[in-house]
Amino acid sequence: MYELKNHTEIVVQQALQHYLRTNILTCSCERCQADIMALALNRLPARYYVSSRGEIMTQWESQALPDQARILSEVVRAAQQVTTTPSHPLSQP
Ligand SMILES: [Zn+2]
Repeated sequence: MYELKNHTEIVVQQALQHYLRTNILTCSCERCQADIMALALNRLPARYYVSSRGEIMTQWESQALPDQARILSEVVRAAQQVTTTPSHPLSQP
């Protein structure tokens, strides 16, 4: 059983989790996190690879991506955009 995976998506998700640990967002609900992922992924090239089910990417593979810095900067940019204009009304604290 094989499936296609987008390496960029995995790295974007990791970068977003890192960003959320070190920055306070106006809202970081699931919807806003998905919005940030979508915005960042639309600006980045997809890098598909074939994975057999259950396979975990090795450390070497996860470091082989050349544009990690670019991915991080796109995540930051997307997060700032979603923070400024969230796609749902913010509930009052
Ligand atoms: Zn939200």
